[in-house]
Amino acid sequence: METFDVLVIGGGPAGYVAAIRAAQLGFRVACVDAFTRDGKASLGGTCLNVGCIPSKAMLDSSEKYEMLQHDFADHGITVQGASVDLGKMLSRKAGVVDKLTGGIAYLFKKNKVTSFHGYGRFVRQDGDAWVVDAAGTEVKAKHVIVATGSNPRALPLAPFGGHVVENSGALAFEQVPAKLGVIGAGVIGLELGSVWRRLGAQVTVLEALPGFLMAADDAVAKEALKQFQKQGLEFHFGVNISKVEQSDGGVSVTYTEKEQEVTVTFDKLIVSIGRVPNTDGLGADSVGLALDERGFVKVDSHYRTNLPGVYAIGDVIGGAMLAHKAEEEGVALAEMLAGQAGHVNYDVIPWVIYTSPEIAWAGLTEKQAKAQGLQVKTGQFPFSANGRALGHGDPRGFVKVVADAQTDRLIGVHMVGGNVSELIAEVVAIMEFGGSSEDLARTIHAHPTLSEVVKEAALAADKRALHM
Ligand code: FAD
Repeated sequence: METFDVLVIGGGPAGYVAAIRAAQLGFRVACVDAFTRDGKASLGGTCLNVGCIPSKAMLDSSEKYEMLQHDFADHGITVQGASVDLGKMLSRKAGVVDKLTGGIAYLFKKNKVTSFHGYGRFVRQDGDAWVVDAAGTEVKAKHVIVATGSNPRALPLAPFGGHVVENSGALAFEQVPAKLGVIGAGVIGLELGSVWRRLGAQVTVLEALPGFLMAADDAVAKEALKQFQKQGLEFHFGVNISKVEQSDGGVSVTYTEKEQEVTVTFDKLIVSIGRVPNTDGLGADSVGLALDERGFVKVDSHYRTNLPGVYAIGDVIGGAMLAHKAEEEGVALAEMLAGQAGHVNYDVIPWVIYTSPEIAWAGLTEKQAKAQGLQVKTGQFPFSANGRALGHGDPRGFVKVVADAQTDRLIGVHMVGGNVSELIAEVVAIMEFGGSSEDLARTIHAHPTLSEVVKEAALAADKRALHM
């Protein structure tokens, strides 16, 4: 039986990064990753195959089409006869995915990580090691890392199938649905709803919560909602769905909103109401791997499960279900296994929604900081007062800085606007170093760039913004 120091179950951002880092640190490593739903051996998990990467490829393609229709004329560029070749758009997306997933296979080879394609399942404990069935081959490993990720949560009233789809189905419609329903106004619903609206669908978003993006800063959520509604996305909040019925032509959804019962028919319905941990096929029960009441693998602060030598990271342990959080846990755990001080700072995780405008934040909102009893000062600066944003033709949104009123430490930064997914990185770095709004305000930012808005927001926290 082949023996490894580390066996990783799951080849998504948590698993493949843990495998590469462990190999860099001198461990003999293997990774077993299930085939994708369409039967492909394709490393990268949800993120690369049916999540982060294909959604961003489709967001980019659809945004180019939207800009061509609505924004280019302002720049003095007119184009006639623009149309969408959806097949080509989807195959471009598939090409991006293939390139990146193939890249991980290359990195595994380069780092001498042995790859198994198929299910990984615990078989038995053997001394201080574990025997795992890796895609039909029994292997032995001293350390086993469970990185099996998550699956879309289904709505019991509307199981996936037919016209009701989850993320992978919503990234592969063969034609643009005329009427698209989206249940759940979270990150995935907003991103996928935006893609299909830009390509011509009439999109209605149904959300159970009473408000929009309740985890985001209030001012950011308000501005984003205003922009999305202006684009034609229709939102209904506080809805209670009571019936979902499929027919040959589509799917009808009955819901109550403000005590009124409404039935709407859609061609397709995306259900994006969150994700559930994936421990299917792992044999968790057979070895007594402890899960919490929601099915997440229970771990301590060192990612140790209740079983000696068995660890878990990524979406399957819960917390922020983000690829970069999963990757950082992969690095931290591999370093801990090597006796180093692996660490993840959960207080400074960047959150990004890749809509137009984009939304990004790190740290606490003003409301959260006040709820924790902190005295805060805030500074806000709009993109409409920034030369680069005006040059781009996108003056929407602003940056808001939240700092401790006594120490000036940066507590949170919140952004809505063009390209803020890139702007958030610098504030994360400053927050990681325990920096202040003064540090941000005194850092030289190139002119003319969008990043000057971040600096001006920090200056505004001290009432000395220069360009407002
Ligand atoms: P996964 O990526 O789910 O990988 C787990 C892997 O384990 C999968 O390949 C699975 O098949 C495999 N597996 C499961 N069970 C077994 C088994 N028993 N044996 C072998 N293999 C097994 N996050 C971001 O940070 N940015 C984004 O822009 C973003 N966009 C997203 C868009 C969409 C539409 C979706 C759905 C998600 C998005 N996410 C995004 C979330 C991100 O994809 C996840 O947080 C991330 O993939 C989690 O990584 P993971 O390694 O924990 O799990």
